[in-house]
Amino acid sequence: MAVPPILIVGGGLAGTALGWSLHERDVPFLILDPNEAGTCSKIAAGLVTPITGKRVKPSWRVEELLPVALRLYRTVEKLLSAEFYHERPLVRLFKEPREVEWWRGRAGATGLEQWVDANAPLVDSSLFHSEFGGFVQRQAGWLDTAAYLEASRVFFAKIGTWRQGVIVEDEVETLDHGIRWHGEDFSHVVFCRGAEQRTGSRFFSWLKFDCARGVIASLRVNLQESRIINRGCWLLPHTMGHWRAGSTYEFDLTTPMETSITDLHGKLSLLLRIPFEIGGTQAGIRPIIKHRQLVLGRHPAHPRVCLFNGLGSKGVLRAPFFAKMLAEHLLDDKPLEPVVDVRAND
Ligand SMILES: Cc1cc2nc3c(=O)[nH]c(=O)nc-3n(C[C@H](O)[C@H](O)[C@H](O)COP(=O)(O)OP(=O)(O)OC[C@H]3O[C@@H](n4cnc5c(N)ncnc54)[C@H](O)[C@@H]3O)c2cc1C
Repeated sequence: MAVPPILIVGGGLAGTALGWSLHERDVPFLILDPNEAGTCSKIAAGLVTPITGKRVKPSWRVEELLPVALRLYRTVEKLLSAEFYHERPLVRLFKEPREVEWWRGRAGATGLEQWVDANAPLVDSSLFHSEFGGFVQRQAGWLDTAAYLEASRVFFAKIGTWRQGVIVEDEVETLDHGIRWHGEDFSHVVFCRGAEQRTGSRFFSWLKFDCARGVIASLRVNLQESRIINRGCWLLPHTMGHWRAGSTYEFDLTTPMETSITDLHGKLSLLLRIPFEIGGTQAGIRPIIKHRQLVLGRHPAHPRVCLFNGLGSKGVLRAPFFAKMLAEHLLDDKPLEPVVDVRAND
């Protein structure tokens, strides 16, 4: 008898990475997604920044996560004859003396040198504010998330593993050996609904979401620079002559858009010395779970009902590694790390 597929609810960075992990292992699955424009994953800048944050620290587990992420994106590129992941150096400019101090405190830390190109020039100080200096990161880059997700969707649809639709949790019947939805049987359901999971969930209502909205802009600016520049906000040379800039971080999701755009404008003024103009803007809600890096795994009472969520602002880096971990858990019974296991939040 054929093995019933795994039902994946949501085709953002989380659901798509899980789809690829299952595809690689020849395990049947079906991604169900409404295919709406402007989702969090589609508008994201897609940046991968090994050293990050105010305190200029290596990103959480970047050494383990980055090779798995690159492997997935390169494999998909090869399979689909396309390019989605663009490796680019990133110039991190310090904004204030405190950042310089934190950075000096880290200088010489083991392993840090792999992310830093000590010989690369910084920036033209007539174009950028750079009075506190900075450093150039290597192994940074960006994923063209919209292109990657669309190409993945088209491929999955062609082989019958993607379908347009929306699942209401109440319509999911839990059985002893699987789940049933609209008369179809599946071995598991994995909810990968991003920030939409935070309201009215029948299965995961105990999770404490603390989502943050982000606004991203396209920018008109006359610059010749191929690297990503960051100084309190980032500037990404997206396609020929097209710049993206961002992003804001609002935990109060009711913040007016104008406030966020003014905030972004202010940050850009502290980065750029030359005139610029904000063009179109886009906003999305980052799925963040309080006090957790991310969560995945089985529901405590319904082991066939699963979750993969909380990727926060690092979906590109984190989704492939943890999708693989979830696939190994579901298919090989490999234990989940407690730090990410959704049941640890019960
Ligand atoms: C402004 C901004 C900038 C960002 N920049 C970066 C960055 O530079 N680098 C980075 O790594 N990350 C970045 N992020 C974060 C990144 O976008 C998220 O980590 C990631 O998109 C989360 O992916 P997800 O699949 O969990 O959620 P989502 O992208 O929200 O995907 C969830 C999917 O589920 C679908 N769905 C929801 N409910 C249902 C249902 N009931 N039935 C069927 N389908 C459903 C939705 O339509 C959607 O397609 C940024 C986010 C924002 C907002």
